[in-house]
Amino acid sequence: MDKSHKPATIAAHAAGALDPQSGGVVPALQPSTTYIRDEDYALVRPDNIYSRADSDNLRQAEEVLRALEGAEETLLFPSGMAAIAAVFRTLPNGATAIVQSGIYWGTTAWVRDFCARRDIVLIEVDADDLIATCCAQNANLVFIETPSNPWLKSVDIQAAADASDAMLVVDATAATPILTRALDHGADIVMHSATKGINGHSDVLAGVLSTRAKDAEIWEMIRADRKMAGAILGPFEAWMLTRAMRTLPLRVERMSQNAQMLAEYLLAHDAVEDVFYPGLPSHPGFETAQKQMQGGFGCLLSVLVSGGRDDALRVVGKLALFLRATSLGGVESLVEHRHTIEPHTGIPENLIRVSVGIEDISDLIADWDQALD
Ligand SMILES: *Cc1c(COP(=O)(O)O)cnc(C)c1O
Repeated sequence: MDKSHKPATIAAHAAGALDPQSGGVVPALQPSTTYIRDEDYALVRPDNIYSRADSDNLRQAEEVLRALEGAEETLLFPSGMAAIAAVFRTLPNGATAIVQSGIYWGTTAWVRDFCARRDIVLIEVDADDLIATCCAQNANLVFIETPSNPWLKSVDIQAAADASDAMLVVDATAATPILTRALDHGADIVMHSATKGINGHSDVLAGVLSTRAKDAEIWEMIRADRKMAGAILGPFEAWMLTRAMRTLPLRVERMSQNAQMLAEYLLAHDAVEDVFYPGLPSHPGFETAQKQMQGGFGCLLSVLVSGGRDDALRVVGKLALFLRATSLGGVESLVEHRHTIEPHTGIPENLIRVSVGIEDISDLIADWDQALD
């Protein structure tokens, strides 16, 4: 496809994926694990040997993400955590990693365990102190998550890139490539859990890494290790993802509008103590978010309801439209009482994390209205 095309065009056309064999306007799903050779023992398609290395469906999904991200190369993994692990596995023993604290708990838990096993010095630091720490410490890797989950803190990606020579990896799951193109802001690698907004239908588990320097030594290690160690996304998941991403810009636009309106409604409500959302001028990090997010502030927000644990659980229990389930970025709205899931991480007991879907905003507000009553 034409390089000048805008995200909505790239997504709607799945970056030009068609089925040349049938003439279908949709790419075929090809589940074969292995590929034939001719009488002279040459591969019929030199780029297809065995599906642990690559497959047409995988390449199609990767091309959509690569084009949306403005990347040189994009690699898909079987989950977001597999993508994060692929990055950290490139660190030599004894390396130093700076990792933002108060981020997705699955990342923190795995990184702590991994760094301890590999004698990697792990410096965990809050978003507010991240840039100063990057300046002061000589690290191999800096890992940030912006906006962060569940605090919705923003880290200035460009400032983090300027503050250190370390490889800068940005988990931009809550932004999606539609709202933030982290590579344009100086990230070396951008990561997403494609399970969330990118797929957006709560039916595919996937993770993605993109780079602006595909010849970089670390990227070559990541690419080789994915193939040899087999952390590959299957063709069916890749095909599902390609289908879902056709509407990604539309979904993100509607979710962001809904989330902004719900955040403003909740902030003004008497039974609410505070709302964390990057699109609220009252929220710390609003200016950073404005600088590096275009077209909205995403689907994720957290609410502190007045009172304590029981009050929060009562509200969560009364919500009828918002489904009580973990995860985010799906077309259906979800709520979660984070303290019940991770009581040991300092999450306030009255915090409710909300993923706003694409429903009609008046129905979403009406649901909170009756639940907060
Ligand atoms: C869900 C999530 C992950 C992990 O992704 P999985 O696809 O569940 O493995 C990482 N980072 C963030 C911000 C997430 O929300």
